[in-house]
Amino acid sequence: MEIKIRNLDKTYPGGFKALDRIDLNITEGMFGLLGPNGAGKSTLMRILVTLMKPTSGEVLIDGKDINKYRKEIRKMVGYLPQDFRFFAKLRSWEFLDYAARLAGMNSRMERRERVDEMLESVGLYEFRNRMANKLSGGMKRRLGIAQALIARPSIIIVDEPTTGLDPEERIRFRNLLSDLGRRETIIILSTHIVGDISSTCNQMALLNEGALVYEGTPDQLVDKAKGHVWRAEVSQDEYGKLKEEFPIISTIPSGTGWEIQFVGEKPSSISAQRVEPNLEHAYVHYMDNKLSHWNI
Ligand code: ADP
Ligand code: MG
Repeated sequence: MEIKIRNLDKTYPGGFKALDRIDLNITEGMFGLLGPNGAGKSTLMRILVTLMKPTSGEVLIDGKDINKYRKEIRKMVGYLPQDFRFFAKLRSWEFLDYAARLAGMNSRMERRERVDEMLESVGLYEFRNRMANKLSGGMKRRLGIAQALIARPSIIIVDEPTTGLDPEERIRFRNLLSDLGRRETIIILSTHIVGDISSTCNQMALLNEGALVYEGTPDQLVDKAKGHVWRAEVSQDEYGKLKEEFPIISTIPSGTGWEIQFVGEKPSSISAQRVEPNLEHAYVHYMDNKLSHWNI
């Protein structure tokens, strides 16, 4: 299975260009779409699930244009929108049953089995009789992912699913998704949090101001930051100067000054040691380079 995005543009009524010539291939596994707020992530996802049409360009799923095969595509796709909320007065299990019916599962028996199975797999079975709108934030998110998965979609699209979750719930959620990723599905996860893009993503892209600025694996992105991340002990004065010039990743008070980590080309005036980059360093390095390049 493969999603091909070709030369995709989206200009909103009013003239704002939210997506600018996006070209992207997405294959089976977990795909992480990373970008700051306003980058265009939700716009791209709404187009992929056929809720919105692009201004130009096309999306092909296994060679089929999603605009021509909307019905079929919608059956293949499970979607958790960013602003997913429950207002309906339904119990958790009723809510999933409703989602299953909407997805075209007509057999009541089959639905009952599937609803129980999903409640189990997202850890909500014991809350099956609780009203959906009375669940905690994290539980609502899990019920949200359950409704997206209920009809066994082959493409799963989740938009900022970890927003509002505490760190423990965040980890649990990521594990749940990566478990699913082992099957023959495409999972697209959007986020503005670097930590959500873990090694479980076998593909990723960076979106900034509507443009794709990186496409590859997380490891390849980290490689690009090698030799560009530094640790140094600096005085208050030096710190002030460095702060103007470089993105500072961390500062720890140390003796009379600071121990800092920064990203960029080391100035010869200070002594610093190389730091092995992680994905967060790489993100800062990449965005910083791109942004200063664009400013020229
Ligand atoms: P992200 O999900 O990455 O935060 P969005 O896709 O929601 O980004 O938004 C991208 C840009 O498009 C933002 O600047 C946003 O203000 C703008 N935008 C989003 N929806 C609309 C809309 N319906 N009309 C006009 N502009 C919009
Ligand atoms: Mg969004």
